[in-house]
Amino acid sequence: MSTRFTEPAKTSPSGFSAEAKKHLGQNFLHDTTVIAKIVQALDPKPGDVIVEIGPGQGALTFPLLRRHGELTAIEFDRDLHAPLQAAAREHGTLHLVQGDVLGVDFSALAAELAGTGGQIRLVGNLPYNLSSPILFHALDHAAAVRDMHFMLQKEVVERMAAGPGSKVYGRLSVMLQAYCTVTPLFIVPPGAFRPAPKVESAVVRLVPRPAAEVEVGDRRDFANVVRAAFGQRRKTLRNALHGVADSALMEAAGVRPDARAEQVEVAAFVRLANLLGGG
Ligand code: SAM
Repeated sequence: MSTRFTEPAKTSPSGFSAEAKKHLGQNFLHDTTVIAKIVQALDPKPGDVIVEIGPGQGALTFPLLRRHGELTAIEFDRDLHAPLQAAAREHGTLHLVQGDVLGVDFSALAAELAGTGGQIRLVGNLPYNLSSPILFHALDHAAAVRDMHFMLQKEVVERMAAGPGSKVYGRLSVMLQAYCTVTPLFIVPPGAFRPAPKVESAVVRLVPRPAAEVEVGDRRDFANVVRAAFGQRRKTLRNALHGVADSALMEAAGVRPDARAEQVEVAAFVRLANLLGGG
């Protein structure tokens, strides 16, 4: 068993864990220009309910508190809680939730913090090992989320925003773009973090489309079609979707059976999934 999980955290004079925990994706931001750009991109307005994922040692949390006065943050690392809560006091009101963000029901949290029908704004320098699960989790609660501003690996942001014909257009691009507008904002070099990650990072804005504008009928049918299509991205759709959708259905959806998934636009996947469900 790794001792990393059992050793008590060393604490710095500020009370924070001195060592970043790699298994929790802890790369702490220290570049004040980058931090200011994230706060500016989020641009909190009075009444906004802001929820930060992974506040860490407060790099984003404290500037946001100074600007907005109050926020909720979800942090998995128990060792960070007491020092974070103590240090936050001089900046504003921090509501700290201890736990795994993937277990947090954003719809219930939005109802609790913003009232029935209310929405939260998500922000975070995400643990990179959990980027995709966190994005998909947020999509499951899209109606409760007004927008998201996330720091991710640059390569992930490129995949999120890619269009048909791009080598990096894939399942993540189609799934996110069907439900959200995806806007890459700026690139962040490894030196902005301690410890520095091996890769470049980027900040991205996601804005869930209003429910009335989302054309996906059955979310599960849609997810299944997209997963199958990109599961074998080198194959034609006729082969990749064998047993899922036949050629006649593809043609009815305006999708060429001899095309490959990476050539098919998001709206065409939506039409195909909707026809599958008989919609
Ligand atoms: N926001 C801080 C910053 O920018 O310096 C920390 C960012 S660090 C990349 C990611 C943070 O997410 C860490 O504080 C880590 O402990 C936390 N984290 C990791 N897995 C988590 C999970 N499943 N749920 C909530 N927080 C998590």
